[in-house]
Amino acid sequence: ITIAIMSMLSFSNLDAQQKLNPLIEKKIDDLMSKMTLEEKVGQMNQYNGFWDVTGPAPVGGSAEQKYENIKKGLVGSMLTVRGVKEVLAVQKIAVEQTRLGIPLIIGFDVIHGYKTLSPIPMAEAASWDLDAIEKSAQVAASEAAASGINWTFGPMMDISRDARWGRVMEGSGEDPFLGSKVAVARVKGFQGDNTFSSPLRIAATAKHFAAYGFVEAGLEYHSSEIGKNTLYNQVLPPFEAAVGAGLRSVMTSFNTVNGIPASGDAELLRGILKDKWSFSGFVVSDWASIREMIPWGYSENDAAAAKSAVEAGTDMDMEGGIYLPQLINLVKDGKVKESFIDDACRRILRVKYELGLFDNPYKFLNEKRELEQIGSKANHDAVLDMAKKSIVLLKNEKSLLPLKKSGQKILLLGSLAESKNSPLGSWRIAAENNSAVSVLEGMRAYKGNNLQYVKGLDLTTKEPSFLTEVDYNLNDKSGFEEAKKAAKDADVVVMVLGEHAFSSGEARSRTDLDLPGLQQEFLEEIYKINPNIVLVLNNGRPLTINWASKNIPAIVEAWHLGTQSGNAIAQVLYGDYNPSGKLPMTFPRNVGQIPIYYNHYSTGRPVDKDNNVFWSHYSDSEKTPLYPFGYGLSYTTFQYSDLKINKNSFKKGEKVEVSITLKNTGKYEGKEVVQCYIHDAFASVARPVKELKAFELVNLKPVETKVVQFTLTDKELGFYNNNGDFIVEPGKFKIMVGGNSVDLLSTEFNLVE
Ligand code: BGC
Repeated sequence: ITIAIMSMLSFSNLDAQQKLNPLIEKKIDDLMSKMTLEEKVGQMNQYNGFWDVTGPAPVGGSAEQKYENIKKGLVGSMLTVRGVKEVLAVQKIAVEQTRLGIPLIIGFDVIHGYKTLSPIPMAEAASWDLDAIEKSAQVAASEAAASGINWTFGPMMDISRDARWGRVMEGSGEDPFLGSKVAVARVKGFQGDNTFSSPLRIAATAKHFAAYGFVEAGLEYHSSEIGKNTLYNQVLPPFEAAVGAGLRSVMTSFNTVNGIPASGDAELLRGILKDKWSFSGFVVSDWASIREMIPWGYSENDAAAAKSAVEAGTDMDMEGGIYLPQLINLVKDGKVKESFIDDACRRILRVKYELGLFDNPYKFLNEKRELEQIGSKANHDAVLDMAKKSIVLLKNEKSLLPLKKSGQKILLLGSLAESKNSPLGSWRIAAENNSAVSVLEGMRAYKGNNLQYVKGLDLTTKEPSFLTEVDYNLNDKSGFEEAKKAAKDADVVVMVLGEHAFSSGEARSRTDLDLPGLQQEFLEEIYKINPNIVLVLNNGRPLTINWASKNIPAIVEAWHLGTQSGNAIAQVLYGDYNPSGKLPMTFPRNVGQIPIYYNHYSTGRPVDKDNNVFWSHYSDSEKTPLYPFGYGLSYTTFQYSDLKINKNSFKKGEKVEVSITLKNTGKYEGKEVVQCYIHDAFASVARPVKELKAFELVNLKPVETKVVQFTLTDKELGFYNNNGDFIVEPGKFKIMVGGNSVDLLSTEFNLVE
């Protein structure tokens, strides 16, 4: 092993983006000099919209108390206030009835669209199309802003390797490089140029800080016991990148990180986020997560929880009802320094000033604008475009796809095919129920085809909601016979199967990742009658579709694609759009393989060439994934050749230029995500077998060829050591390029001092 000489490098472009504006700081000084301790703590207090009777029981206080507290200037923010009318009502109280007239900042979970919904975030990440992802966040921001919202609780950037965890649908999958790029695209889409001069932009939140995606066994709200190596190299990079892009807020996570609840973790919040990364925005707790430090067994009582959280750097208490009643006395009794309150209040006021809320808190509160902007044709076009780009073709044998537009008898099966609700996905608080285009509607728009729809199977016993567990149909097979009869005559059977949207999202961990309910049985029954099946999957996470991947000739991963879902799926099925998505998360063969991910480490016994039982393996399952990270097909085919680097040896700081030739060898025009991975062969901390470090989306016509180039710098070649320092070490590097994380051409170079 090369004993490397470490060099500390700073790649921070944060200073530029997190710089303070002296004019705003002066205004904050003036305002804060007039504020009482109570009013400063009030800014740190956030309530849920008190008319939300469907939401979880309020812990922040009764509706009446909350209303009184707004009038007293003891509330800094509200969340989940719906629409201009309601925002105006609360904002008027804050601005016109309180002593200092400080406006509220209105937050909302705009996760994948406001009313016009984009695909779930995991699906968008599968597009690897950063411009489209930015545009999608921009559409979401414009609709939310038109409804009076100033601030979204997104993007979620929790890297996760555990598909059992229901919240993987909200993230970008398993990879910190792709995750960072997507995080930055979304921050830009929400915040624009960070001046907030446009009425179409809102402040973004990076969540959940940190390591929520590593909750043990994928179990929601659980603890994350996570090593420094993983924390620095996998979990934190998207957050650092988002801060670098000018992000204005960060949300803590529910979990503990190595025994410390994230909302009370001073090392993460002050040490890394605020000091090392110079983050100048504010930190909001997750829902009552400061209060949850008590059942965690970390804080003895409310006062102890408030003290730990504020000292650690959590600036705002979301619906926890802890800061307001506790912090005032803690400061008065000399138990918490007022400087902590000042820091938190200043950060919150800073973002309010930056958003222009003080200049004119009602400027964008206009019901006419709200009506015009939400659900516009342009927004529907944008989410349709995003939905098509998010689809991943997993298998296509027997030339089943694309379907013919005429002359073919097509049978469509499964209740998800007619669903206008599930395709919207989880986390869509403002959108109307049943507002998606169904697959049935999308396919019926192709008038020339010979389409028959038979439900065959009800996925659930009743329509589920965000707040209740999905009740899958486990008994009623009464529709099977009609479906089987119809299948006999069909040239192609399209089956829409998967998870209902509310099987993923918050509090939706699963131990079994097979098709739920009776769907597997339904699939196998139909297969016996007619094997020409196109399986269209609707799901919020990787599924263990082992049997289907062996037997079903065509599989389309269509996630939960939002409002335009059915149109997007139909355009892909009929070949009007050639799919180009690639999986952002590994699909396991079975749950026992989890965590399974491409950028794992080697072992001391890595080689498996003779199937020798002593090598690292499972006795009862293959070790490889069902579908690897970065995998996805097209209706055309691509050929990779001629991988080159400009030299064999580079000095640190020099640019490594990589090139590869890509040829479209099929019949259709298509896009390919060309992926570039590295492996640092020997280092002072063992490095993963491969790590994604660059990618490009390339469009080619049939027979067309393009030389694709990547430039790698120290930023891509280095890593964080266990002290959290970014280092670049000399030695041998392997470069691998291809269309997924497994099928790769490779070459090598040396990095010298
Ligand atoms: C979730 C957050 C969300 C918040 C507000 C919490 O339960 O974990 O992601 O932003 O609620 O709705």
